[in-house]
Amino acid sequence: MHAAEKKVRAFVRVKPTAHFAQDVIKFGPDNKSIDIYIKKDAKKGIVNNKQTDWSFRLDGVLHNTSQELTYETVAKKLVSEALTGYNGTIMCYGQTGAGKTYTMTGATAEYKHRGIIPRAVQQVFKAIACSVDSFITVRISYLEIYNETLCDLLSTTTSSGASDVQMAVVDCPQGVYVKGLSIHPVSDEEDALNLLFEGETNRVIAEHSLNKNSSRSHCIFTIYIESRVRVLSDIRCIHSKINLIDLAGSEKLSKTGSEGRVLKEAAYINKSLSFLEQIIIALADPKREHIPFRQSKLTHVLKDALGGKCNTVLVANICGEALHVEETLSSLRFATRMKWITTEPVVNVTYDSEGTVKTLEKEISLLKQELAMHDSLVNRSLVTYGPLTDVQVAEIKSQIHKYLQGTIDEIDLEILPLISCEHCLLSTSLCSPSSRQEWSRIKVHVKIMNFRQVQEAFRQFKLIVRQQEGEVETRLRSKYVLIDKNDFAAIAAAQKLGIVDVDHHLLKRRDVETRPTPVSPKPDEKKKKFRTSSEQFKKEGTKSFFSGRDLAAHLPSKSQVIIPTKNLNVKEKARNEDTAKKDAQPSKPVSEEISQRPSSPPLRAVAFEQFKEECGSEINRIFKENKSILLARRKRSSTVARRINIIKQEMEDIKKALEAQRQERSQQGEYVDEKGRLIIDEKEFLLIMKLKDLKEEYRCSYAELQDLKAEIQYCQHLVDRCRNKLISEFEIWYSESFLIPKYVQNALKPSGNIRPGMIPINRVMCLEEDEQERFERMQEEMLPSGPDSFSFYKAKMKTDQKHTYNRAMSSLKLMHKKPGHITAAGKDRALPFLHVT
Ligand code: ADP
Ligand code: MG
Repeated sequence: MHAAEKKVRAFVRVKPTAHFAQDVIKFGPDNKSIDIYIKKDAKKGIVNNKQTDWSFRLDGVLHNTSQELTYETVAKKLVSEALTGYNGTIMCYGQTGAGKTYTMTGATAEYKHRGIIPRAVQQVFKAIACSVDSFITVRISYLEIYNETLCDLLSTTTSSGASDVQMAVVDCPQGVYVKGLSIHPVSDEEDALNLLFEGETNRVIAEHSLNKNSSRSHCIFTIYIESRVRVLSDIRCIHSKINLIDLAGSEKLSKTGSEGRVLKEAAYINKSLSFLEQIIIALADPKREHIPFRQSKLTHVLKDALGGKCNTVLVANICGEALHVEETLSSLRFATRMKWITTEPVVNVTYDSEGTVKTLEKEISLLKQELAMHDSLVNRSLVTYGPLTDVQVAEIKSQIHKYLQGTIDEIDLEILPLISCEHCLLSTSLCSPSSRQEWSRIKVHVKIMNFRQVQEAFRQFKLIVRQQEGEVETRLRSKYVLIDKNDFAAIAAAQKLGIVDVDHHLLKRRDVETRPTPVSPKPDEKKKKFRTSSEQFKKEGTKSFFSGRDLAAHLPSKSQVIIPTKNLNVKEKARNEDTAKKDAQPSKPVSEEISQRPSSPPLRAVAFEQFKEECGSEINRIFKENKSILLARRKRSSTVARRINIIKQEMEDIKKALEAQRQERSQQGEYVDEKGRLIIDEKEFLLIMKLKDLKEEYRCSYAELQDLKAEIQYCQHLVDRCRNKLISEFEIWYSESFLIPKYVQNALKPSGNIRPGMIPINRVMCLEEDEQERFERMQEEMLPSGPDSFSFYKAKMKTDQKHTYNRAMSSLKLMHKKPGHITAAGKDRALPFLHVT
């Protein structure tokens, strides 16, 4: 599918400056031409034939243009065409500091200053969201070329983006590709931006660690798009890539005054850029047949991008100062040359026909025929290659079982009905029964002739191994307590019980039993003793087992124990203890002797008492105060309630008495005064007055009770909050004081450069919350840029967060240069949240 012939488009972008040389650089009225004027050099005398005025015509001059407008002008069309299958390349060319990186990547701190790459990623994913009938996948790679060396900025093997010797530019019929360059599938904009930011970070890290200069490397960010759409019975597959290239600084060697290593680097850059220039000249010449793409890594990688089958755009970044006019001229010349190249972009499309299945079926039947022919040539005409029957599978199974039991020495698949060539084999000269050696050779030969058999044999082995693993584990579980080595809580609980030591080595049962009383040995002694047993347990992989009896031997006396002794699951125990603690009433202090063991943390209950006395005293005081208020209110409330009941009872009694009075009156006849008002006696009057008072008292008490209820509810809430706070602060204090590894504890000492942050140990990524808060704040500040900025900031936050965490890790590592300090176990374990000051 050929499109019309096109030219490479070239733009010039002028970096804003306060010292813009107005008399040197002039823009045409249509914003497409740029003129350069240089005053004649007086020193060179009157006869000076050097040209001093130049005029360049390009596709657009971007002067005081926002990032958004730059993107619209330079990239938008190219990206939308990439979504329909055209490859696209955008390159930024120019001297160092002219704004190439600003144009390509942009300033990552602010959304509106983001460059072409993040905008292109956004455009691609917006288009994907709008497409209904196609299935589109996007992948990303980020390559750096430094001194003719290829570096994968997204390499998963090296975090610093160091060069990989395995990488090479390879030509293939589909185009050039970089062998060994990692290409990462991304599912959304945020994913892709994560990779961009990660690549940028790696670039900076590599720049520091390898002592190189980013302005001297070329960077190629590639977006690979593949879209599949069903067209009738076929699947149309369109694939394209967008290369976004930030070229190395184009400044002239003489100007940089480079020496030594820098000279070599500059020479490399100039070489690769001048090769690029040569290729551009060659491409622009219709008569040129050979284009020397392979001269440099850069031109080789760009072979597809420049070769004419792709949309190509160049942005020449220039500085507006008079001082840089030479470089500006050279960049403008380069841009003009680029414009000479004609391109013929084509859509990369393939069709996956459903007819493929038929073709394959045909091929299979042909191959079967071929196989049959080969078999007949070696007298194996009865071999079949179809799926195994149940009988055949059962036979293999039985053979393997016999083999494992030792009943047979060899698995003899020959006897299977599947291979019924036994007779013919025996009749051949190869398998003369007299020659045992030959016979076995034939057997092996026969065995590997049918792969279904071999696969089935291995499958049977696997089944047996799985089954046995299960049995062994069940047996061990019924007898021992199992601890997952990665389960921090269970290990801590086991340490507390003295079942494992600080290094997670198991304490040997024999060692314990030989001790007359369960007194803790000196730490050194203990370590020595337990070392041997640990060796044996190391071999058991990630899990270690220990006997219930071991556990019992280590438990303190029964009255002090809060856990069952038999088949105790330590993890469960840890959980139980947590629940108990929730009431802020940890069980009675347990054996001091155990808690004081220097190699294991003290019991939580003991530590909790200590915490309440020391660090947690203020919270504890508030907790107690609230609790006593709550208790007082409850007491008052029950008094009031009781009083209400008494009043009620009294009221009932009076009501009854009044009723009796009334009845008496009606029996005796009622007295009325001259106005017809009922006359009652004093007793009844007093009763009525008493009832009235009681009603008032009842009303008041009832109101007081309601108030008290509300107050109690509020106080209860306060007490709960205080209790939770007390517990959580205790947990933090406990973790920081006892559970974190020694090397971190050292770092936490006043002289260390890490200070304990009151953040729970189990929040490994403790930075999370701070970063999250920051992100939310940022969102509030920035979101005026619209919801589109969400992925950008989120990806940025993630990269920053990861980087901060890595920094914290490396400062830890630096503090403990001793290699033994950071063990594999130490790394896996939940690292305690640290704040690096
Ligand atoms: P290069 O990659 O070409 O060496 P940079 O992109 O790093 O140059 O730009 C150098 C500095 O100039 C950066 O601080 C960048 O933010 C700033 N800059 C470049 N172009 C612009 C522009 N168009 N608007 C604002 N600042 C710019
Ligand atoms: Mg740059």
